[in-house]
Amino acid sequence: MVSKKASLPASKNPSDYVIATMGSHSALQILHGARQEGMRNVVVCKKGAERAYKSYGVADEILYVDDWSEWEKVEKELVKRNAIIIPHGSFIAYMGHDRVKAMKAMYFGTKEILEWESNRTMERQWLEAADIKMPRVFATPEEIKKPVIVKFHGAGGGFGYFIAKSAEQFYEVKNRKYPEQNDFALQEYIVGVPIYAHYFFSPLTQELEIMSFDKRYESNADSIGRIRAEDQLSANIYTSYTIVGNIPVVIRESMLPEFFAMGDRVVKTSKKMCGGKGLFGPFCLECIVTRKLEIFVFEISARIVAGTNPFVEGSPYTALRYKEPMSTGRRIARDIKTAIKQGRLREVLG
Ligand code: AMP
Ligand code: AMP
Repeated sequence: MVSKKASLPASKNPSDYVIATMGSHSALQILHGARQEGMRNVVVCKKGAERAYKSYGVADEILYVDDWSEWEKVEKELVKRNAIIIPHGSFIAYMGHDRVKAMKAMYFGTKEILEWESNRTMERQWLEAADIKMPRVFATPEEIKKPVIVKFHGAGGGFGYFIAKSAEQFYEVKNRKYPEQNDFALQEYIVGVPIYAHYFFSPLTQELEIMSFDKRYESNADSIGRIRAEDQLSANIYTSYTIVGNIPVVIRESMLPEFFAMGDRVVKTSKKMCGGKGLFGPFCLECIVTRKLEIFVFEISARIVAGTNPFVEGSPYTALRYKEPMSTGRRIARDIKTAIKQGRLREVLG
């Protein structure tokens, strides 16, 4: 259930607000970005997770919970402070959609989008309507005709994905390793390099920016190649994609126009299809680029992704556009600050 639109604070002074987030994922960057824009911030940490926020001195205030089930208690404190919550991957993973939708505190982004990006069928409808190339999907294991990547629903950070090239191979791994799991997607495995494109669309200026790109450092997909094929076979290693870190990438320059055009189409289509204000703020197209330079998108993240973390001091792209270091976290704070000053806060809230 979406909470009723509360009346917003009338102040046009950014110092009457704070930027808030959950302590994990990209919180360091978000908090630092708020500071860089001269706004106060608050981070909500599970007890024991505060060390980084203290050590790097990025937080104006730390609020604590023993467990994320206590979020609603903390939310009252956030509302008192006129906090604007910035969602990220860990926030959505730990809170769950229903609680995010019901939240009363101010929330940066469009809540309606959550359903569109998390439901694989709706996500595909949206991206196909935006003329985005996607990997084929097979409805049942029996239909597998080429290598597929098997994705269990809610597999956190790519853990448990595996590759199968036939129904027999699929059942062999599934029944042995994941006998209880029956909610999965079978996606054509695209041979190419993964590229994550980080965008920012400002609802205030209606402009789309490409902030940066990254690739992920995944265990053990990124380590299998370190041993010879015979050893891989004898060690009986299965490919898994547990995210461990993120590595910056600069894209071949002639591909930039296509990346911009893809971002434009996804934003434009979201306004028609996804309800609310459509997609705005940071988002990421998760792509595989083939040897023929075809760009397949296997997923969209409709918020800040952790792949922007290497760019706390800006990226090679934001260095071209801005005079000052511009991270995605700072870019969010800048739109919020501008919206407050112009009396347009509602335009950046979901
Ligand atoms: P964590 O807060 O690190 O336990 O992560 C919670 C969830 O957020 C993970 O299961 C991932 O889906 C996502 N996540 C966290 N860090 C990253 C990252 N660096 N890249 C991509 N996803 C991430
Ligand atoms: P995800 O958790 O959806 O971000 O995916 C984890 C990793 O799986 C990605 O970083 C890619 O390397 C890989 N991957 C996901 N989908 C595909 C696909 N359809 N084809 C090839 N690789 C994929």
